[in-house]
Amino acid sequence: GFNDTAARGNGSVRVGQVKEVTSLANPIVKDIKALSQKKTRDETKTFLAEGLKLVIDAAELGWTLRYLIYSKAAKGKPQVEKIAAKTVAQGGMVLEVSEKVMASITRKDNPQMVAGVFDQRWKALKNVSLSEGETWVALDRVRDPGNLGTIIRTADAAGASGVMLIGDSTDPFAMETVRATMGSIFALPLVKTTVPEFLAWKVQAGVNVVATHLAGAKDYRTVDYKRRPVVVLMGNEQSGLPEELASKADSLARIPQAGLADSLNLAIATGVMLFEARRHLLTLDDVQ
Ligand code: SAM
Repeated sequence: GFNDTAARGNGSVRVGQVKEVTSLANPIVKDIKALSQKKTRDETKTFLAEGLKLVIDAAELGWTLRYLIYSKAAKGKPQVEKIAAKTVAQGGMVLEVSEKVMASITRKDNPQMVAGVFDQRWKALKNVSLSEGETWVALDRVRDPGNLGTIIRTADAAGASGVMLIGDSTDPFAMETVRATMGSIFALPLVKTTVPEFLAWKVQAGVNVVATHLAGAKDYRTVDYKRRPVVVLMGNEQSGLPEELASKADSLARIPQAGLADSLNLAIATGVMLFEARRHLLTLDDVQ
């Protein structure tokens, strides 16, 4: 039932606006737990993200919370009350849950004290236009959730403007991926597209598509990243870039390697490329 000792403090969250839940059989808890399945995320177009800082960052960036979930231990914390008030004001629901329910929702033994359910956001490729000094990452059929999360986080840190997912890709809104982004999923636009759509867009976008390839003709440090806005195009973990994409790139770049390994991990290679492509644009003064 509805909690009658609801969050107090700034007075914005009133009695009846916080629902107390201790049962794993609660239907709302079941709905939220179902967000661990891609099918449910696709149908509801929502996703779950954990952590107080992350939820606060998201709300500050204008993301709307469908549900705010916090464990009893977080009750009364001013930051939690503030975000609870904001959630209610925007028509969302606030759940105060037992540790057991929190662990079940986040599928973790030592769960975070706060989690949120947000609406997914996708940007349409036709609305992507790059200005001078902008860089995007395009990923061909990325498979690994950890790689994708790490790439979104790294792209954000390198000052890239967004990430495109070409073809059949792992879901950026999966819990593991969202975790790996460390909140950057809320900062960067994501685009879902296909090979033909991407190639058609490229023709009119005025961008420099720098594809990475193990057979790349050019040392990645000799590519001109200043002439036009850059799209760094990365290949699938197992099979690399297919010919239909590689052949349409403006250049094929390779990172020279030493040692035994045949290739770099996709997320590492993306990081190396991005920081080279944006080397002239990043200074320590910018990140004080
Ligand atoms: N077996 C795959 C192949 O032959 O392409 C290996 C793919 S690698 C694990 C995944 C992606 O990371 C590649 O498609 C490429 O985009 C990038 N990559 C990894 N090492 C690279 C390197 N030394 N130079 C350029 N790109 C690299």
